[in-house]
Amino acid sequence: MKRKYRRVTHQIIEELTTIVGRNNISTNKSETEGYAYDETPLAIPHVPQVIVRPTDTSSIAKLLAFASEKRIPVTPRGAGTGLSGGCTPIYGGIVLSLERMNRILEIDRDNFVAIVEPGVTLSDLCSQVERQGLSYPLYPGEMTATIGGNVATNAGGINAVKYGVTRHHVLGLEAVLPTGEIIKTGGKFVKCSTGYDLTQLIVGSEGTLAVVTKVILKLTTRPAKGEVALIPFANLQNAINAVPEILRLKMTPTGIEFMERGIIEIVEKHLDRELPYHDYEAFLMIIMEGESESEIYEYFSKVDQICKQHGAIETMIPGTERAKRELLDAREKLYPAIRGFAPMEIVDVVVPRSEIAKFVRRVKEIAEEHKMPVVAYGHAGDGNVHLHPICLNMSKEEWNRRLPHLMSDIYRAGVSFGGAISGEHGIGCDKKAYLSIQMDSAHLSIMKTIKRAFDPNNILNPGKIFDL
Ligand SMILES: Cc1cc2nc3c(=O)[nH]c(=O)nc-3n(C[C@H](O)[C@H](O)[C@H](O)COP(=O)(O)OP(=O)(O)OC[C@H]3O[C@@H](n4cnc5c(N)ncnc54)[C@H](O)[C@@H]3O)c2cc1C
Repeated sequence: MKRKYRRVTHQIIEELTTIVGRNNISTNKSETEGYAYDETPLAIPHVPQVIVRPTDTSSIAKLLAFASEKRIPVTPRGAGTGLSGGCTPIYGGIVLSLERMNRILEIDRDNFVAIVEPGVTLSDLCSQVERQGLSYPLYPGEMTATIGGNVATNAGGINAVKYGVTRHHVLGLEAVLPTGEIIKTGGKFVKCSTGYDLTQLIVGSEGTLAVVTKVILKLTTRPAKGEVALIPFANLQNAINAVPEILRLKMTPTGIEFMERGIIEIVEKHLDRELPYHDYEAFLMIIMEGESESEIYEYFSKVDQICKQHGAIETMIPGTERAKRELLDAREKLYPAIRGFAPMEIVDVVVPRSEIAKFVRRVKEIAEEHKMPVVAYGHAGDGNVHLHPICLNMSKEEWNRRLPHLMSDIYRAGVSFGGAISGEHGIGCDKKAYLSIQMDSAHLSIMKTIKRAFDPNNILNPGKIFDL
């Protein structure tokens, strides 16, 4: 059988070394093995033959032109915190790590814009921007993630209700095409009706169309105060039913999260401490910003009235900064807590907000039918539901064998409620087997045509989102 891709030989390593420099390349096994996976729970490791860590755009351009000509697969990688196997090199070859392109090039206070290299971490960007009295207001969970990774996955997170997702903050890009050409899209402006919008096509393309080498980001200012409320309910349906009414209030919360009791018990074990109201079946956590405490408290008193009409017990607002931090910390620890609890998979279906409760109820029925427990939490304010099938009461082999059937049924349910397979993590290689549940052949076919137009030799992150 004809090999799809050329192997990386000693000669090729020499040529790559000339392109990126001796200090920016490694074939050392102890290093390549560390680039074989991301944070996807059931990730199958794929070890690259070589890692390159270029420090400038022109080296990336030369590298991609070379890889395209030689037909060597190249997998872009940020911090490797992805949850869909997007940065794992499933055909081996080159991992192109952007970690050394990590400079904040400009913070333009007049235009509310930051220009950054892709390897800048979310944490660095947020702190630098805040020092200038501005804000990059997104909070997609993992602050060690890179901006390049956030752009490539169109990362979302808790603050999406008020501030949207990554694509709403990307004004322009510099990107290298798989053929080695460099393109510049957009600019320091918020409006543009000039041709096809390649910026937004590359955002969310999971490193399959181009390597992002510079990002122009929209910044904002934020209100001075922030507060969080925890609202326990007797059941999830009641909690979710309150959300549309909360969103109809004139002030928009930063985030509305939901959690069910099963998750709370797992987090308590992980943190080794009790969480407030832990005996209740479901919770809403509402994050709100305002110019003054009284403005926020007035908002929460309206929320309290709405929630009580839906059977809530009360609205708990932590009295101290420490209690507030502990509550937010517990929310942040959900994923690591579940990961440490048992083998599990992660689902990030998004459905219309009004359908969350029905969708979660259907998922519970599916879990019963398959006799495989599934716990749920997520972003109630934007319809993004995180589900974790957990391996309990059966062997790992048995669970692995049955999991794809459970996953198919869950995705079918999500799509039947008007939803999509991924709200924020992307398809990667983890979910590509399920994409046809949502997309018909015409839709898939136009996406493949776009991929071929960008990447005629199919060398850039091949085997992600779909197979050609
Ligand atoms: C505890 C935890 C919580 C999380 N919470 C959230 C959350 O709330 N919301 C959310 O959206 N995500 C969340 N994530 C997922 C993850 O942090 C995001 O997907 C993030 O955007 C990945 O960034 P990264 O730098 O780690 O990218 P990687 O994992 O390295 O790569 C992700 C994808 O981007 C591509 N890529 C990376 N850099 C570039 C580039 N410069 N050019 C082109 N393609 C590139 C890769 O090829 C890959 O397809 C969470 C992850 C963890 C571990």
